[in-house]
Amino acid sequence: MTRDWASLEIDRKARAHAPVQPVAKQAADERLTHFEEIYSVYDAEIARIEAARCIQCPDPAPCQLACPLGNDIPTALRLIEEGQFLEAANVFRQTSPIPEICSRVCPQERLCEGSCTHGGGVCNTPIQIGKLEKFVIELQYAVEGIPLGQVAPDTGRRVAVIGAGPAGMAAAEALRREGHAVTVYDANPHPGGLLIYGIPAFKLSKDRVVRKIEQLSALGITFVPNTRVGRDISLQALCEQFDAVFAGVGANVDAPAKWEGVELDGVYQAGEFLIRANVPDALKPEALVEDGKPPVGRRVFVFGGGDTAMDCVRSSLRLQREQEYPLDVTCAYRRTEGEMPGCRVERANAREEGAKFAWLTAPVRFVGDDAGRLTGIELIQMTLGEPDASGRRRPVPLEGSEHIVEADTAILALGYWPDPLLGKTTEGLETHDWGLISADPLTGRTSLPNVWAAGDGVTGPDLVSTAVRGALRAARDIHRTLSEL
Ligand SMILES: Cc1cc2nc3c(=O)[nH]c(=O)nc-3n(C[C@H](O)[C@H](O)[C@H](O)COP(=O)(O)OP(=O)(O)OC[C@H]3O[C@@H](n4cnc5c(N)ncnc54)[C@H](O)[C@@H]3O)c2cc1C
Repeated sequence: MTRDWASLEIDRKARAHAPVQPVAKQAADERLTHFEEIYSVYDAEIARIEAARCIQCPDPAPCQLACPLGNDIPTALRLIEEGQFLEAANVFRQTSPIPEICSRVCPQERLCEGSCTHGGGVCNTPIQIGKLEKFVIELQYAVEGIPLGQVAPDTGRRVAVIGAGPAGMAAAEALRREGHAVTVYDANPHPGGLLIYGIPAFKLSKDRVVRKIEQLSALGITFVPNTRVGRDISLQALCEQFDAVFAGVGANVDAPAKWEGVELDGVYQAGEFLIRANVPDALKPEALVEDGKPPVGRRVFVFGGGDTAMDCVRSSLRLQREQEYPLDVTCAYRRTEGEMPGCRVERANAREEGAKFAWLTAPVRFVGDDAGRLTGIELIQMTLGEPDASGRRRPVPLEGSEHIVEADTAILALGYWPDPLLGKTTEGLETHDWGLISADPLTGRTSLPNVWAAGDGVTGPDLVSTAVRGALRAARDIHRTLSEL
C-alpha cells in the first residue's frame, strides 16, 4: 500500500502533544501467581487515539527503517486511526509472517519505538507500536479465524526445512505460498523452536505459537517432530530426497560453565530451567516430563545480563511464590546496568516483580554440602577496564574481594552456542566459530549448492525478527533457484 500524502491533513504539533495511551498491565503481585501474559490488549477506541498520535513521518519513516522486517508502520497506524483494523493487520502481514509473535517479543524500545520521532519529542513517549500491532492481529484472528491467505498452484518442487523455530517457520511458509511442497524436521516434540522452548509464557503465550503452527499445517506444510538431522537422518539424505534444503537450526546449546561446583544439585543451566518452568507437559521433551517444575529454594542467584537471565529471574520469582517462599531472587551481572544487553522493559518488569540486582559481580565457585546440594556461592567483585571487542568495558576481577553468600539455587544464563552437529556430519558444509553455518547474509546460500541457512544458526543468538528476515531472504533465493530448474 502506498501512502497518499496529498490527502493527509495532519496537525503534527497537536499530535506531538497528545499523551500516550498505555495498555493495562497486571499488578506485579497478581502476575506472580501465574505464568501467563501480563499485558491486556487495546480497546478499539483507545487504540484509535494512540494511533492518532503518529505524525506520519515522511517516507521512509524512522520506525519502518528500524524494523528488521521493514513493516510499513505509518500506514498501519493511519488505518488504525481510521478504524480500519483488519486492513491494518494486513499491512503488518505483508512483511511479517508472525506479527502476533513479533508484536509481543520484539524489543521495540530499540527497534521501531526506539526510533519513533515521538520518543525525542514533547511528549517523550513513542507510539505503542507493538501493542497496536498485537491489537489488530488478535482482532483479525477473532473476526476471521486463522488466516490462510493464498497458496500458488503446486510447482512439483520439494523443500526440506531443518528446524521449526522462527527462521524455519518463516522459510517454510514463504516457500509453501510459492507452491512448493515443504517438510519441516525438528529435533523437538513440537514446532516453534525457542518460541516454545525458551521464551517464557508470560512474554509469549504458547497458545499463540501453537495457533501459528496450526495455520502452517492448514497450508499443507508437513512437520516431522523428534528428528535430529545429522543423527536420525543425514543432511546428505535430505539433499538427495528434496530439491532444496533450508537450515534454521538456531543456537540453543547452553554456553559451557567451567566453575567448580556447577554439577551440584540446585545449579541449573538456563535452557533446561526455562523449559521445565514454562513448557506445559504436553509440549515438553519426554525426558523432562517426569522431572516436573524445577524446584527453587529460598535464595536464588541468576548469573547473566541478557533476556534469558531476566526470563530466569521472573520464572524463579513465580516458582518461589508457588512455594509460598518470601521472594528472594538476585540477578548477578559482571558489568553494570549500563552495559546490560537485555530489554529495558523486561528488566523494569522484573524489578516490579521483586527482582534484586548485584552489579559488577561474578561467581568464583559453587559450594555444596555432603549430600551434593548447593549451599553457597563464592562471588567476586568486578571493576570495569578498557573496552573489549564488543565495545563494552571489560569486567576485571578485584583481587581480595571474594566472599561467600548463602544460596540454594543458582541459574547460569551465560548465553547460547550453536550445535556443531550439522557441520560435523555433513561433508562440504562450511561452519565457523563453534559451529555457526557460513551463509551469505543476503541470500542464505551456504557452501553446498542446494542448502541455504539463516537465523541464529548463522548469525549467533539474536532476535526473532532478525531470524525471520534472514529466512525470508533465503526463501526468496530458494524460490528463484527452483523456478530456474
Ligand atoms: C530465553 C530466551 C528468551 C528470548 N527472548 C527473546 C525476546 O524476547 N525477543 C526476541 O526477539 N528474541 C528473543 N530470544 C531470541 C530468539 O528466541 C531467537 O533469536 C530465535 O528464536 C531464533 O530463531 P531460529 O529459528 O534461528 O532458532 P530457534 O528458535 O532456536 O529454532 C531452531 C530449531 O531448530 C531445531 N534444531 C536444531 N538443530 C536441529 C537438527 N540438527 N535437526 C532438527 N532440528 C534441529 C531446534 O530444535 C529448534 O526448534 C530469546 C532467546 C532465549 C533463549
